[in-house]
Amino acid sequence: MDKKHQRCSFCGRDKSHTKLLIAGIDAHICDSCVIQAQSILQEEIAISSEATFKNIEIKKPHEIKAYIDQYVIGQEEAKKVLSVAVYNHYKRINQPEKDDQDVEIEKSNIVIVGETGTGKTLLARTIARMLHVPFCIADATILTEAGYVGEDVESILSKLLQAADYNVPAAEMGIVFIDEIDKIARKSDNPSITRDVSGEGVQQALLKLLEGTIVNVPPHGGRKHPEQKMIQVNTQNILFITGGAFNAIDKIIASRLQTNVIGFNFDKEKDSIDSENLLQYIAPADLRKFGLIPEIVGRFPVLTHLNPLTRDILLRILLEPKNSIIKQFKKLFKMDGIKLTFDKEVLDFIVDKSIEFKLGARGLRSIIEAILTDAMFELPSKSDIKQFHVTGAYAEKKIQKASIARLKVA
Ligand code: ADP
Repeated sequence: MDKKHQRCSFCGRDKSHTKLLIAGIDAHICDSCVIQAQSILQEEIAISSEATFKNIEIKKPHEIKAYIDQYVIGQEEAKKVLSVAVYNHYKRINQPEKDDQDVEIEKSNIVIVGETGTGKTLLARTIARMLHVPFCIADATILTEAGYVGEDVESILSKLLQAADYNVPAAEMGIVFIDEIDKIARKSDNPSITRDVSGEGVQQALLKLLEGTIVNVPPHGGRKHPEQKMIQVNTQNILFITGGAFNAIDKIIASRLQTNVIGFNFDKEKDSIDSENLLQYIAPADLRKFGLIPEIVGRFPVLTHLNPLTRDILLRILLEPKNSIIKQFKKLFKMDGIKLTFDKEVLDFIVDKSIEFKLGARGLRSIIEAILTDAMFELPSKSDIKQFHVTGAYAEKKIQKASIARLKVA
């Protein structure tokens, strides 16, 4: 074709009326048609992914738990409660269109109470992985109410949108894990005496997200700017899981249990209470007393707890999860053609050190790392070595050499 009379094959515009005309084999496309085609494409993808997410295959609670079992050791009670909550949540999403007479199923947002490092994040992450839904972690401590230094609560949804690659329907079926919810508790449970504006204000703001409304979300998080283009996200089907250590909440639980049992089968009830692990008796009233406002507590109908990690559980965490730390290091060595083995006492030693330094499950990795660093540095250059066996004496020597301070910050 005569160069002068080239036209867009889609809209017919002459080249002189376009900013850019892109040539194909037998056709041309102008800049405006590219933009239009792009928006059609996005709409179509959004519609098809909406359909996909509406039809998440709901696994039965037993299957959900069996999946979590592969990654999370122990914590049987929490795994059971979570499996049921997730099952109900996705049943609720997949229910056929409601009529007015229909029973409305409420959302099963979840609070997990447990010491740091006991697996709260791991549980939430594992569930999201199983469901193939977008997942993000937000830290409640960086949130502030509008007008203060920090991030608006809407920034939580910005993270979810990022995790969903800005696919809004996908994000609207996602899971948000809000960590350290206990840090935004009001300091006194009597609002009329001390008004702790920061904590309570953030809780009020958070309530808006939990209520299931359409929220204007700044695409890149942070503070909202008037001139920024917002993305609308409906939070109705987003599952919120929140966690916190709730330090010293055991005292609140103990005092509630005491008051409750007095005058009512006192001795029998009191005897059956396991005072070593009071978290197992946690109730919504304890969260309110700790300083969460009643509306927030009400929006998290599912409450569960995690047990402290015992020596046995730590040992199992080292070995059993599908991607356990030991399996990961064996794989790393195998990639250099080396078979890595350990004396049983090395594993005990690693667990003991983790307990001694109060590192919990997070410390297991840094301790193994300290034991194996020299070997991982030297062995790849020695092509004749096909096996590396770690003895108790070797592990002890390497740990003595490693700075305890370094292990502690892990
Ligand atoms: P939390 O959110 O409660 O502070 P995490 O979920 O971040 O704790 O756990 C820290 C790490 O400890 C995880 O990455 C995981 O490797 C390990 N871990 C903790 N608890 C368990 C568990 N029950 N089973 C397997 N690994 C665990």
